[in-house]
Amino acid sequence: MARPSRVAIVGGGITGLAAAVRLRERAPAGTDITVYEQSGRLGGKLRTGELAGGPVEFGAESFLMRDPAGGDSAVVALVRRLGLAESIVHPSVGQAALVVDGGLRPVPGGTLVGVPGDLNKVAAVARPAADADRDAGRPLLGPDADVPVGALVRARLGDEVVDRLVDPMLGGVYAGRADDLSLAATMPALARTARVEHTLVGAVRAAQAAAPRTPGAPVFGTLAGGLSTLVEAAAAASGATIRRDAAVRELHRTATGWRLTVGPTREAEYVEVDAVVLAVPARPAARLLAGTVPEVAATVGELDYASVALITMALPEPELPELSGFLVPATEGLLIKASTFFTTKWGHLRRADGVALLRASVGRYGDETSLQLTDEDLVATVHREVSKVLGVSLPTPIDRHVQRWGGALPQYAPGHLGRVAAVRAAVRAAHPTLALAGAGYDGVGIPVCVRSGETAAEEIITALGGSAA
Ligand SMILES: Cc1cc2nc3c(=O)[nH]c(=O)nc-3n(C[C@H](O)[C@H](O)[C@H](O)COP(=O)(O)OP(=O)(O)OC[C@H]3O[C@@H](n4cnc5c(N)ncnc54)[C@H](O)[C@@H]3O)c2cc1C
Repeated sequence: MARPSRVAIVGGGITGLAAAVRLRERAPAGTDITVYEQSGRLGGKLRTGELAGGPVEFGAESFLMRDPAGGDSAVVALVRRLGLAESIVHPSVGQAALVVDGGLRPVPGGTLVGVPGDLNKVAAVARPAADADRDAGRPLLGPDADVPVGALVRARLGDEVVDRLVDPMLGGVYAGRADDLSLAATMPALARTARVEHTLVGAVRAAQAAAPRTPGAPVFGTLAGGLSTLVEAAAAASGATIRRDAAVRELHRTATGWRLTVGPTREAEYVEVDAVVLAVPARPAARLLAGTVPEVAATVGELDYASVALITMALPEPELPELSGFLVPATEGLLIKASTFFTTKWGHLRRADGVALLRASVGRYGDETSLQLTDEDLVATVHREVSKVLGVSLPTPIDRHVQRWGGALPQYAPGHLGRVAAVRAAVRAAHPTLALAGAGYDGVGIPVCVRSGETAAEEIITALGGSAA
């Protein structure tokens, strides 16, 4: 009788854990699954902590509920399969603001990550360039072309729409600049319609029509117990052996599978497996691929990352507006790029003692000097700048936390999707029992990472001779 297959998953973030769950669900019974995580904790960028005696997210905060193609997003589907559906909660306050000329203005509706589908709706925040979005008788984008989001929007609607709307909204997700980020990778729905439509407003409307929202249906959700409950449930349901503090340092092909070098040089452990899911960010992935597929490793390693810091403060009964938070355009000259009023935004986090939890982020791609400040200076800066934006003197925090995420958010440059397709094709052709997954390839959001991990698992099952259906 054939022995059960052994699969190693490198990286214990949400991508690696989603891959582990999918393997357990669909691989033949008895498949041996091991997750190797270099740090002491699972979850990667999902990390629920505690501040002033209450739970708070120190990393990712929420997830999209719907898949762009319709139905539940991949993470919602995973949450359901793990039996956590009852824990899903939605924001009680959805309205956010933008800082414009030092004051707060509501984020206008009807945009696609800030790109307007109705110019009148954004007029209070940004004046679109007059008559710029003219129909020139051809689609905005060629069939295989990709451009920076900023270049397209600046050309069609002018600088103000980019600087005051698109850049802060895109920057809120990627900590990057609209002028650097790929349209096809960061706004795939708009890229698709831009290949057909002749005006940007028309392309936004077409993208919105292709994925209509159910009125009243919540866009975002999170888990009442924190996103770490998803991490723990996925690890448990996968039945995988979890190896924490186990960095994989080398990956080599053997006659029948793969050999992993795990742990510190002096106490290196060598593990033989049949298949590997590489669910780590691009840089560690490139290092691991260097020994096996060097040409692919170089391309994977091209991806750059932004670093950010999240500063969370517990404030005794502050005066906060009824907003989920605000975004700060880079042109405003502040260090903070966004702030979330956790206890206003999320009803389940509201506290009887009136303590409010407020989080702010600093660090923009290419301008990360703010991250060199000490924790105390970061807290003081956030306190001063949020007070200034709100026009109040915020009370002294009773507790604070600074979470630094170095090299955390991928910066997809134009052409990213083509590079990923080429890398995947090369790996699949030469090494079908190796799969690459995670935010370095398919997208930054949690649902996309879950789907990426699941797809990798399905590819591995097929490569090992099973059926992933
Ligand atoms: C501050 C912040 C806020 C965010 N907020 C949101 C949000 O609200 N909603 C949303 O949808 N997305 C959000 N994101 C994005 C999302 O959280 C991430 O893209 C996603 O969690 C990445 O998951 P991953 O498993 O691909 O990678 P990671 O989470 O980076 O996990 C990779 C894991 O691999 C481990 N590893 C690395 N090298 C090795 C090695 N050699 N051997 C073993 N292990 C290794 C790492 O320690 C890590 O645990 C946020 C990201 C950040 C940084």
